[in-house]
Amino acid sequence: MILSVASGKGGTGKTTVAVNLAISLALAGNPVLFLDCDVEEPNAHIFLKPSVEEERKVFVKVPAVDESKCDFCGECSKFCAFNAMFVVRPSEKMRGKVLIFNELCHGCGGCMLVCPRNAISERNREVGIVKRGRATVPVAEGVSDANIEIVFGELRLGEPSPVPVVRAVKDALNALKSSSIVVIDAPPGTSCPVVHSVFGSDYCILVSEPTPFGRHDLNLMVDVLRDLKIPFGVVLNRSGVVSTEKSQIHEYCEREDIEILLEIPHERRIAELYAKGIPFVLEMNEWQPKFTEMFEKICERLRHS
Ligand code: SF4
Ligand code: SF4
Repeated sequence: MILSVASGKGGTGKTTVAVNLAISLALAGNPVLFLDCDVEEPNAHIFLKPSVEEERKVFVKVPAVDESKCDFCGECSKFCAFNAMFVVRPSEKMRGKVLIFNELCHGCGGCMLVCPRNAISERNREVGIVKRGRATVPVAEGVSDANIEIVFGELRLGEPSPVPVVRAVKDALNALKSSSIVVIDAPPGTSCPVVHSVFGSDYCILVSEPTPFGRHDLNLMVDVLRDLKIPFGVVLNRSGVVSTEKSQIHEYCEREDIEILLEIPHERRIAELYAKGIPFVLEMNEWQPKFTEMFEKICERLRHS
């Protein structure tokens, strides 16, 4: 079972929901794999505090030109749809030059194929890192601890596209045990990295908050999931913070026939625990069954869909 947790915008409590859900499922005895695909700002590990067992660099392929073979014909730059190559033709005053803008390159390899002089090869460029570790969740005295396997990526500062690092995090799914429950913490927004993160999920939990921005961005994410044909439901975080807007979210979900799976109230205790980096299900035990009940509700919906 692959469950992704997404939201149309940042700051809605997406990671809070993903982490508390993963812990509740692990405490209920399930093997859990947590993938933090929010590689521009991974923070699930701050709450799960895993011991990191493995690190792997993530590379993308970019072109390298051997100018001793190049005749500056310009075929490569003509081909590149991303304007990542520019050829300066030689003149009486200047030698020719092929300029490569690595940040714009999508690594398609097309320039290498069209070069008539075989002057282009590929080289690796590091864009981030993926870490794998294990988080231990204490259960009770005399009972062995629950474990959560976590994989999280970190995009190098200044890199324009998180997608290669998101893909590298999701590679962990290749070795997935069939009994495992996967919780994916998707990046905020509705762009490419979000689509790559939620793609292939059995179900997506959309976290929203009762504000006008929350409702607007929820709407955008609903459109994305409907296009991808991924079933989804909503978790309303900070419920009750603005009573009129709360009803707007309810009205929207009712109109669009979207199930509200869970409401997390706007409570000082939850905010305090968040500020200390403590998942609130660990201190407010009444919330563990609420998250596992939500999971069972999702399984039930999937069985009937
Ligand atoms: S296509 Fe090849 S030969 Fe032509 S400019 Fe580009 S690198 Fe040089
Ligand atoms: S690999 Fe593709 S995107 Fe990159 S420079 Fe070559 S043609 Fe452009």
